[in-house]
Formats: sequence, structure tokens, C-alpha cells
Amino acid sequence: MLNHNIKAALSSLDLRAVLFDMDGVLYDSMPFHAKAWVYAFAQEGVTFSDYDVYMREGMTGSSTVEEVFLAQLNRRATEEDCQRIYRVKSDYFESLGEAGEMPHVDEVLSCVKANGVDRYIVTGSGQRTLFDKLEHSYPEMFDKRQMVTAYDVKKGKPDPEPYLMALKKGGLQPNQAIVVENAPLGVRSAVAAGIFTIAVNTGILRNEELEKEGANIVYPSMKAFAEDIPEIISLAKK
Ligand code: MG
Repeated sequence: MLNHNIKAALSSLDLRAVLFDMDGVLYDSMPFHAKAWVYAFAQEGVTFSDYDVYMREGMTGSSTVEEVFLAQLNRRATEEDCQRIYRVKSDYFESLGEAGEMPHVDEVLSCVKANGVDRYIVTGSGQRTLFDKLEHSYPEMFDKRQMVTAYDVKKGKPDPEPYLMALKKGGLQPNQAIVVENAPLGVRSAVAAGIFTIAVNTGILRNEELEKEGANIVYPSMKAFAEDIPEIISLAKK
């Protein structure tokens, strides 16, 4: 349900593109990332919960290890620590197999495309085969030139750089885009880039974690967002 203030804010946009985060938005991959991080830290004798993983989604692997070492082991992580733990995490993640598509996001994508609004991907992921995977899951929905990945930016989320880079690639102003995110640090990045931000809580966090980062709307599920997307587009597109 869109309230009056949200409708007014959407009406002030000149929507040209929707910028989609990937993990936890297009793919239901966060449960696997959580399992893998918890496992990797357990090998070091460090207690780390699923909740801890979801709160840090978007940070680089090294930043995650550095922060946790300081907080729990009271020492700085070396580069070797970061590489060792991240390797264990990545191997375990791979062993879990491919994460599935997020239910109901195909309805969102189809509605955006049918209205002639561009789709961008903005992710901290750096998989070389990313585009092939996307094309398989969501045929003809994305364009290679309309992606920002780990290879495009120096600073990842929560820095605004990834979303600013997407605007730059598209020759877009902040009011010509909407971001779809699931993670607190992703919301922070998008809000800092000055873009209208929709958070979809597809994981285990409380909605407040997304609200307090400044999301314009927080949906409790992808299904709830998919129900509103036609109205959102019709208000935001001139
Ligand atoms: Mg995400």
C-alpha cells in the first residue's frame, strides 16, 4: 500500500531506469552466503551468526574479516587471514550449488520492461560468468553494458560509488532512477547516491534495519513489492 507521501515522492520522479541489486533481490542466495560465512569463521573459532552475515551484506570479504577480527579476537587481520578465510567461505559457498531465482522478481522485471523502463544490475559480485547466468535466469531482461560489478568500482557498498557509476553509465540523473535493494548497507549506498530506494526484506532482518538506513519504502516480501510495481511505475514515469 502506497501512502500519500510516497505517492507524491514517486510522482516527482522522471523514471527511466530501475537499478537492481543482485544477491537477495534477483537470486535467493543469502542463505548460502550466510551458511558459508558461519562455517568459515567457525574454522577460526569465531562465533558468527546468520544475522551477522545479513547485516554485513555488501561489504567486501576482507572488510568483513578485518571487522570481525578486531571485534572478537582483538587483533588486526593480516592479508593472509583475509585470504584464507575468504577462500574457505568461497569453496563452501560453491559446494552448496546454484542459488535459485528469487520468487516473484520475474513479475517485477516484466512489468518494468513492459513499461519501457531500463533495467540495470548493481552488484558487488565479481563472478566472470555473471551475465550468462542472468541471461539464463531472466532471458533478454538485461544488457551487458547496463551492469556495475566488482570490476567497475574501487569502493563497494555502502559507499555510493556503485550506484553513482550506474547513473553515469546510463547518463541518468538521480531522479530518473529507482533502486531495489535488500541489504542495509546497499540501502545506505543508494540513499547516499540520492536515488529513490525501495528495500525488499527477503531475508531474516527486521524491517527497521532497512528503514533506519533511509529506504523510501520497505516491503516485507518480493510478493508484496510485485503487487505494487505497476502503480509505482505509473506514478514515477512521466
Ligand atoms: Mg543484496
